[in-house]
Parts: sequence; structure tokens; C-alpha cells
Amino acid sequence: MLQELLQKRYNKTIEECSNQEIYVALLNMVKEKAEEKVEDKEEKKKLYYVSAEFLIGKLLSNNLINLQLYSQIADELKQHGKNLSEIEEVELEPSLGNGGLGRLAACFLDSIATLGLNGDGIGLNYHLGLFKQVFKDKCQTETPNPWIDDKSWLTKRDERYTVEFGDFTVTSTLYDIAVTGYGNRTNQLHLFDIDSVDEAIVKDGIDFDKSEVVKNLTLFLYPDDSDEAGRLLRVYQQYFMVSNGAQLILQECKAKGCKLTDLHEYAAVQINDTHPTMIIPELIRLLVKEGVSMDDAIDTVSKTCAYTNHTILAEALEKWPLEFIEKVAPSIVPIIKELDKRVREKYTDESVYIIDEEDRVHMAHIDMHYGYSINGVAYLHTEILKNNELNNFYKIYPEKFNNKTNGITFRRWLLHCNHELTALIENLIGDEFKKDAMELKKLLAYKDNEEVLNKLLSVKQQKKHDLAVYLKETQGIEIDENSIYDIQIKRLHEYKRQQMNAIYAIHKYLSIKAGNKPDHKVTMIFGAKAAPAYTTAKDIIHLLLCLQNVINNDPEVNEYLKVVMVQNYNVTLAEKLIPACDISEQISLASKEASGTGNMKFMLNGAITLGTSDGANVEIHDLVGDDNIYTFGESSEEVIERYERADYSSIDYYINDKEIKKALDFIISDTMLETGNPEILKRLFKELMVKDWFMTFPDCEDYFATKERAFNDYADRDAWAKKMIVNIANAGFFSSDRTIAEYNKDIWKLTK
Ligand SMILES: *Cc1c(COP(=O)(O)O)cnc(C)c1O
Repeated sequence: MLQELLQKRYNKTIEECSNQEIYVALLNMVKEKAEEKVEDKEEKKKLYYVSAEFLIGKLLSNNLINLQLYSQIADELKQHGKNLSEIEEVELEPSLGNGGLGRLAACFLDSIATLGLNGDGIGLNYHLGLFKQVFKDKCQTETPNPWIDDKSWLTKRDERYTVEFGDFTVTSTLYDIAVTGYGNRTNQLHLFDIDSVDEAIVKDGIDFDKSEVVKNLTLFLYPDDSDEAGRLLRVYQQYFMVSNGAQLILQECKAKGCKLTDLHEYAAVQINDTHPTMIIPELIRLLVKEGVSMDDAIDTVSKTCAYTNHTILAEALEKWPLEFIEKVAPSIVPIIKELDKRVREKYTDESVYIIDEEDRVHMAHIDMHYGYSINGVAYLHTEILKNNELNNFYKIYPEKFNNKTNGITFRRWLLHCNHELTALIENLIGDEFKKDAMELKKLLAYKDNEEVLNKLLSVKQQKKHDLAVYLKETQGIEIDENSIYDIQIKRLHEYKRQQMNAIYAIHKYLSIKAGNKPDHKVTMIFGAKAAPAYTTAKDIIHLLLCLQNVINNDPEVNEYLKVVMVQNYNVTLAEKLIPACDISEQISLASKEASGTGNMKFMLNGAITLGTSDGANVEIHDLVGDDNIYTFGESSEEVIERYERADYSSIDYYINDKEIKKALDFIISDTMLETGNPEILKRLFKELMVKDWFMTFPDCEDYFATKERAFNDYADRDAWAKKMIVNIANAGFFSSDRTIAEYNKDIWKLTK
């Protein structure tokens, strides 16, 4: 079929076409096939998933898989000497997200379409994405990450909306990206934009004039918020997103004959974290403008909107000064004041007010008072919300709280990224697992089958080899495929504790230098972007890059230990790293990682988790049992108590624990100061010694010992392979198809 397509398009054979030409032809073909699967007659009710981020990754292969064309196209290319995975390399990855939250939104869209549900995404078309990470002098620098070609997945629509800001008005443009379900319908990801955005205003990394909103509105995701202009720009973006979204929702509902007071029968709006919160006052404003009474507008919107909480970190719960909203979107200020007034009339507890005494608007409070559902993203996280963080709201609205443990789409995180493992599983249990992930349980029947275990190990070895080749070709990094791959890839944040893993690297380095030769070589792989204004996170990246230099160039050590940090960690890299991983590092401070989804991707690909009892690690542990996971560290209760007592003193650990002192001192040793930037290394040393805000030191001893135990266990290949198969077999629960089925049953109630 491809041959005919290329003949028609270029009058060339497959052999004569460049990869670029084949890519463009496939892109167009997929867009057409996807369009054929758009439902012409929609059901009455629709879900709108509103999110500042959609970290969708490259789309070609995934769409081919979902349209069930992948093997046909791959085979045809192969017959003509071409390779689909090389053609994929032509595609640029859109960086419309930052990390787990944005990736979750992307997995959810896939599952919504796969389950045949009527649901679209609403977001923004950031021209330059988050940023591209480039290492210079062993530090992170940021450059723009353009991804929009004239030939892209975006389809420009005719719809135009008007958004009125305080001092000017813009006309928006709508772009759609087709979301294909696996053997099912096509939904849409709606991305709003304005034509006047000007990429030429960006100079010197990612700096740009923040005052010219008509030129910069959709340039970047999360513009630097260390100054007021940056924070204001974020509010402009948020209001722009939700005003367009609200208009689109009302237009679609009206077209189906919806009476405005029945909005909740036609629409469910899922608010992904607090960024889209202003959709609540915006919808109310639009209804009131069309003649609905304030009471009725508040009532129906409150039955339409539902809120997902993603974090208990206080700094992430947005509070915007009222004056910002007055400047950006003055027309919703009276609505927000009305919503606050109603709360004040009902409750005396000031901690639940929307506008606080400093005139800051607590966005999550709007969501919780004026939405019908509040969900956490893993069992432990939801319990902490109910009993600690959001306890004041739980007391008022116990019926609104519910848990929806996160999930991942197996189409991308198994079928696409690990063809070898997919084929092995299919040979053993058939292909039902592609639609019903719980079928993976059938693999348990093979957990003592030596032949199967050996095949599993050789798939892993193949993926380790592939990763080594890929990193050499794309980043010039050399790794030994016969070493243990120990991988920590995720945004850089102190709570995720890459610094604790770095301290381990130093500890191990010094121990090898002292003559303790390990039995097995380990490659520690890191990948992480740090927020541009987050100094300590960037300092940790510098530490890792210095360690990479010192350790890998030390002939006494590099036969046993290597540290590598990959540049610009993104979905594409995740797809290469995860299938190759032996040990999955999930070491956040207990209580701080809401769920994690990286942990699920690793488990599904047969990596064994080394983790704290945090987020969804707890559920992984419950599913696989003690023998098939390595857990360590203080419990979430202990950590929460430590914070309440406020008596943690990192310096006491530094003084009293010899190993910690030795490792920490190494950060400012001559070797390191010669390798890196002394100012940064000293600053980080001090930060850890006197603050260690995410309490790595109390967990270090247990972490190091547990990690050594995992490395030792790895030597017994049969026993290890058994752990792998138990993990894969129990990963079905973490399919986002299960998560979405739960959202639909408990929250959205869409009919099929
Ligand atoms: C899955 C994923 C994440 C989330 O990882 P966590 O370990 O859950 O924080 C972040 N970035 C990318 C590119 C991912 O694919």
C-alpha cells in the first residue's frame, strides 16, 4: 500500500524515496485514516480533559499501531530495504509537557479513544515547547525546542474565538491533533494559539521580552516565573486556554441542543492540576452573560467540573495575586469574589477561603468548592490528601474525594517501545493482553519455566544492546551492555532525590578506590531536566556531570562503575531507556511523590523497582510481593511526623555518620573542584549539609544496603528473571485503560 502512495505522491519507488519523503507520506496517510475514524454522530455527553501539558511524544509509530497498520507498513518497508525505526527518527518530538503530569494526560487521551469514549483534550500550542536541555561546562543550559514543521500532526481548523484580556483582545486559532484509539475511534486534542506569536523575539537561550503578550503568549510552556512579568504571562496563558476551552465546550453543547442550565448533562470537564482552574469562573461568566442566573450558573458548572490533585508540595498549589487576575481577566474577578463570598457565608474556617487576607486567590480551593469530584492519583496520595494536606476540605466534602491510581498506555510503553518483549508475550499468552492488560497475569504460569526465563533474559540483553548503540550514536556516550543498568530518569527535583543516588555513586567510588572490588559492573544512568530557575536542581545536575567525568576517567574504578547523564531526557529517550533497564530507581522521600508513572513503565518492561514506600510504589509492592521489589527507607508516616516536629537536623548526620561525611566532603574535594565549578559545588555541599530539605541522610544507610542486595541478587540470573516475569505479569493493573474506566464509572459517566 505504501508503494502506491509514494508513486502517486512523488512518482518514485520506495527505494528511491528519502526517509523524509516516506515520513511525510506516512504522516498524511495516517492523518487521513485517523479522520475516517472520527464518529460522525457524537453521543450526548462529552468529556473535556483540560491540561496545561500534553507530553504526547512522537506520534507516527503509535498511530500506526493504534490504526493496526504497523506490521504491514514495517514489513513493506523492510522488503524494500528501509527501516521504519529509522524513518521515525525524522519526526521531531513535541515538548508540550514537562513530566509525569503531561505524560499522564497523553496516556489518558490514548485510553479514552481506545475505550471508545467521547472525550477530547484542551490545551495550548506552545511553539517552542518546554526547552531543550544542552550541557555546557557540565551545567544545564536551555535552548528553544521548535517542533512545528509545515508538515506536522497539527490540523488547522476554521473555528476562531475571541478572548478578552484586561487591556487587549485576541482572536485565537484552533489546531487539532488526531488521537487514535487502539482499534477504535479517533478523538481530538485541541490546541489553541494566536497568529501573532513571533519566535524571532527569543534570543540568548530562552530569553524573550515578556511584556509583549501578543507576541509571546504561546511561545513556551512554563515561562520563567522568577519575575513578575513571567508570572503574569503564566496567568495570561491559563486564561487564554480556559476561555477558548469554555467557548468551545458551550458551542458544542449548544449544537447538540443543550439548555445552558443542563450543561452538566452534556459535558464533564476534568481539570488536570490547578492550571486550568479559571475555567470554572469563565464558564459561569459565559452562562450568566447568556441570561442564566448566578445561582443556576454556579450550580450547573459545579456539577460539570472535576479536579485532579497531583501533588502535596505546597509550592505547587497555585495562589495568584488577585491583582494579576484583575489585569489579565478582569471580567472573571466579580465571579471569583462571588464564589469566595459564598464560601465565607457558609464556613468560618479561614483556611478554606478562596481569597486569603493577602488577596491571593487559592486556585485549588475554587476547584474543591465548585467542582463535584476531587481525586488523588495513587492510594497513598489520596489518603494523605484526605487525612493531612486537604483534611479541612475532606471534612466539608467527604463524598467528593476519590482515588484514581494513575496508569500508562501499554500501546506506547510496551507494544511500541519493546517489540521483542511484546512478541515473546504474544507467543506465550496470545494477543488479548493488548486490549485487556489483566491478561498479562497468564504469564505467571511460566515463572518456573527455564526456557521462557532465558528468552526473557535475552530480550532484555537485546534492549540493553540497542540502548548502548543508540546512546553512542546520538550522544557519544559509551556504556557496557554487560553491566547492570541502574536507571533514574525523571524531572530533577529535590524530593525525587537524585542527590541521594549521587551520594551513593560517591560512596561506591570511594569504596572501590579503597580496594573493595565489586563482583558486577554497574552503569548508573540519569536523565533529568531542571526548571530553569531552580538553582539547587541545576546544581545537582552539575554534581552528576562532574561525577560522570571523575568516575568514568578513573582507571581504578571505571571497570566497575560508570555514571552517565543523558542530555535532554524526553519521551523518545524514555522509550529507549526503559526497555533496557535492570533496576528502576524510585527513591522519592516517602509521602512526596503523588504516584509516579515512570515506575509503572519500568515494571511493565521487566525492570525491578528499588524504591521507597511512596506513591504507586506501594501498590507495585502489594501486587508483586516482598520478593520482587526492593523497598527501603522511612515510611510516609515517619516523614510526616518529622516535618510536624520540625526537628530534622542534617548536620547531625554529617557529624555522626562517617560514610555520609566522607561522601559529602568529596563534593568539595580537590578532584571535584578541579573538574567542576567550585562555586556551584560549594553551594550544593552547604545546601545538603545544613538543609537537606528532603531528608536524604536518614535513608542513606538503608538505601545503600538495599541497593547492594539488589546488585548481588542480579547475579543469580534465573532468580532475577523470575522477578522480572512476576513484575510484568502484575503490571496489568497499571494500564491507563483501567484508570480511565474508573474515571468514567465514578466521575464522567459517559455512555458508549
Ligand atoms: C513517564 C515520564 C515521566 C514521569 O516519570 P516519573 O518517574 O513518574 O516522575 C517524565 N518524563 C517522561 C519523558 C516520561 O515518559
